[in-house]
Amino acid sequence: MAQSFNILIVGGGIIGSSIAMALAEQGATGIGVVDCDLSGKWGSSERNAGGVRATWGAAVNIDLSNASILFYQSVAEAVGFQQKGYLWLYDESAWPEAARRMDLQTRLGVTVVPLPQDAIPRRFPFLDRLGGVYKAIFSPNDGLINPNLLKSYYRSKAESSGVQWIDHQAVSSVTVKSDKVQSVELKRIETDEAVAQYLVDENLPDEAEKTTLKTGILVNAAGCWAPRLSALYGQTTPARPLRRQVAIIHGQDIDLSPYGMVVDTTGLYFHHEAGHILSGYAVPSEAPGYCFDDEGEGFFMTEVWPRLSARSSRFDRLKRTGGWAGLYAVSPDKSAIIGAVSGLDNVYEAHSFSGHGVMQSYAAGRGLAELILSGAYQTLDLSVLSGRRFETGHLVSEETDI
Ligand SMILES: Cc1cc2nc3c(=O)[nH]c(=O)nc-3n(C[C@H](O)[C@H](O)[C@H](O)COP(=O)(O)OP(=O)(O)OC[C@H]3O[C@@H](n4cnc5c(N)ncnc54)[C@H](O)[C@@H]3O)c2cc1C
Repeated sequence: MAQSFNILIVGGGIIGSSIAMALAEQGATGIGVVDCDLSGKWGSSERNAGGVRATWGAAVNIDLSNASILFYQSVAEAVGFQQKGYLWLYDESAWPEAARRMDLQTRLGVTVVPLPQDAIPRRFPFLDRLGGVYKAIFSPNDGLINPNLLKSYYRSKAESSGVQWIDHQAVSSVTVKSDKVQSVELKRIETDEAVAQYLVDENLPDEAEKTTLKTGILVNAAGCWAPRLSALYGQTTPARPLRRQVAIIHGQDIDLSPYGMVVDTTGLYFHHEAGHILSGYAVPSEAPGYCFDDEGEGFFMTEVWPRLSARSSRFDRLKRTGGWAGLYAVSPDKSAIIGAVSGLDNVYEAHSFSGHGVMQSYAAGRGLAELILSGAYQTLDLSVLSGRRFETGHLVSEETDI
């Protein structure tokens, strides 16, 4: 007999885990979370930079981050949340838009401090090369979080409320009848290699052991694989996977531990990471696709080091010690897709966070759980993030995804 759930979440990354916790806290029972790799080796939730900020350009993104930050503050030690701020450097052409966003952020309760160019080295003495920098904005309540600890926190709370976790199983087909998902078919994936293969090219061995799960409600929290999952229930999701690379660097002349995240005029970002420096850069020519190739030293020497050394003499002597590539799930307006899936009575989704899934995970999970259980958002109205916006044209205007 097929196992049965009231609510089945596909994807146990930081978003699926947050939704599971929120559903359980709000009283739901019979919740399952299925993932082909619960360890998240290839998932974005284990491959990100851990930045948390409320300095967004769209009200809903500011609200989602603000509400999440309040929660992270309340469990700061358990999730490694350090409010050491974000420093964002702007050139003259980018400043007017930054100033507009700053007005909105201030109105929505975010603390943002504009800094004229000459004030920057007084607060950040290591920034001794500020050519091309016009002004900066410092947001002291933003900072850095440990994404692995945060995901584990959500999971342990969910588990203690009876949520069941199903590992090494890929959802390979979905049965829909009368506009309702009835069940999903799972195929077992045993090895790391098979998981990696499946996540890159959707290839599952024919002989894989199959199981069927019945469900009352299906939640698509499959991260950058959400479009593949939605195709299984006959829907199109207009998001795409985009590789982002990160370098881990040793710099003997510099200690960034007193500071939070710094974002350069070029889009390069960096912060202290366990005695080293973590730095990332989005190469504008990157083509969408499920690619995990880390270009290593080549990426560091071409994209990272020149931008770092252009900002500080302390970055002249650096050594790359590691790095990785992970996938962003990017929607057309660089904002998450959250809500009920139109055309189906019992399918919900939360994915395509476009580089802000960790920082918004708490309030996103809480909101989706409210919608599923009571039919309406209770704490924050997230209805503008519904996937229907790509049909109606009412997009959320977010310009950056760093
Ligand atoms: C380099 C980089 C830096 C980033 N920096 C930041 C940052 O500073 N701050 C921030 O907030 N965000 C950042 N992000 C984005 C953040 O990591 C993501 O938004 C977030 O992790 C998304 O979580 P998720 O749960 O949706 O996806 P994931 O963690 O990818 O989880 C999706 C899960 O679904 C599973 N899955 C998919 N399809 C199936 C299927 N058919 N069957 C079973 N399981 C399936 C996968 O195995 C995976 O575990 C960054 C991302 C990258 C790559």
